[in-house]
Amino acid sequence: MGLQIARDLIARGQDVTVAESAPTFGGLTSAWQLGDTVWDRFYHVTLLSDSVLRDLLTELNLEQEIEWVETKTGFYSDGKLLSMSNTMEFLRFPPLSMIERLRLGGTIFLASKIRDFRGMEKLTVEKWLRRWSGNGAFEKVWLPLLKAKLGDAYKETSAAFIWAHTQRMYKARRSGAKKEMFGYVPGGYARILDTWVTKLKEAGARMLTDHPVIKISPQDPASTSTSSGRLLVDFGSDRVESFDNVVNTIASPLIAGQCDELTDDEKAKLRAIKYLGVVCASMLLRKPISPYYVTNITDTWVPLTAVIEMSTIVNSETQLGGNHLVYLPKYMTDDHEGLREPDEDYKERCLSTLEKMYGHFSRDNVLDFKVARAKYVAALSTLNYSTKLPPIVTSVPGFYALNSAHILEGNLNVNETLLLGQNKMADEVWPDFLARV
Ligand SMILES: Cc1cc2nc3c(=O)[nH]c(=O)nc-3n(C[C@H](O)[C@H](O)[C@H](O)COP(=O)(O)OP(=O)(O)OC[C@H]3O[C@@H](n4cnc5c(N)ncnc54)[C@H](O)[C@@H]3O)c2cc1C
Repeated sequence: MGLQIARDLIARGQDVTVAESAPTFGGLTSAWQLGDTVWDRFYHVTLLSDSVLRDLLTELNLEQEIEWVETKTGFYSDGKLLSMSNTMEFLRFPPLSMIERLRLGGTIFLASKIRDFRGMEKLTVEKWLRRWSGNGAFEKVWLPLLKAKLGDAYKETSAAFIWAHTQRMYKARRSGAKKEMFGYVPGGYARILDTWVTKLKEAGARMLTDHPVIKISPQDPASTSTSSGRLLVDFGSDRVESFDNVVNTIASPLIAGQCDELTDDEKAKLRAIKYLGVVCASMLLRKPISPYYVTNITDTWVPLTAVIEMSTIVNSETQLGGNHLVYLPKYMTDDHEGLREPDEDYKERCLSTLEKMYGHFSRDNVLDFKVARAKYVAALSTLNYSTKLPPIVTSVPGFYALNSAHILEGNLNVNETLLLGQNKMADEVWPDFLARV
């Protein structure tokens, strides 16, 4: 989001500084080293329908390099690994009766046809799914999947959650592809980010890493929304600079703690946004474990949200040194103690789980294993979420709070993040800039 805002403001003729607290840019899309391989810390794929991201990649001269791969989906259910990659396999899905299968399929179709999510925001996801899929399909499929993805937070999540996921799936289909195709840029996000940051620097942006923003305050606290007072940004270690405007793109609860001059109502709204966090292991293997990109899990004893076999998409020979890459994510709410579980404990739980799930899996197959975690990944779409959002144009002149929590018509992904940045900049932030100069 921060890089997208920088790109937009440069195109509008502004002088831009990007301040990133980490040693590298990229946030959740940043990479790390696993064995001899550098790849994303969290799994990322691009869909054919990700048009805003693909436009950016065209600008960066990388779009034509995207490798598009047809993917398969698996289900781990009742101790068995099943393929669920097409309609026929879906219609044979053993845990469900024929009526339950039809109701499940009908529910997904219905969610794909609904155009406005606002009606769905008013109901819990459980109520909506029980209504359309029936109790049988809900208990056997939806509930374990919701628990795997959201933990107990599924109880306060609205039906807009299912709507957003279904829309992304169907958008990919509507883009003309008959099969589900996922893509990646050779070199992964590390290469995209390198190219993008270089381009932003060439365009004149000042790109600062290791610059955590600690506090933002008006230089003249008496300035009003129509005057153009400057903002002081404190980067810690006695580094303070002043700017005309600040667009803050970090997680909402953190923004609340950075600017004392926000109103109590603004701070309360920012703090009220609950996030899903994730603990996600990356595992480099000598041999693959399955043919599926995603294996969804309905057996509740498995302590993972899913198994993501990235090397069913990413070319093992050219990108991964002939090895295989598997991610083992577990999502949980931002206050969950599991986010602090020591790496060694998470590793042991992952490996012993895989030994039970896959008869052929052996620890000797593992070349490297690392655990990444993030507290603030995706804002939880609670009941009537869209009515509770904090303002983007805040009461502090020149201070804007724009992050992925404002995504309403999709689930969290890079394309939605870029699109949101583009739209909110044009509709809200830029008009306010202009009104103040
Ligand atoms: C497990 C997982 C799987 C995903 N899979 C996909 C996928 O397949 N496809 C897809 O398109 N998207 C995927 N995503 C989503 C994608 O990563 C996000 O949409 C995107 O990274 C959001 O970017 P952002 O800028 O909003 O937030 P972030 O990436 O969180 O960026 C926030 C930045 O702010 C910095 N920061 C925080 N505090 C401060 C401070 N005080 N001062 C300065 N800087 C600060 C952080 O270091 C970070 O760089 C996935 C995400 C996860 C976690």
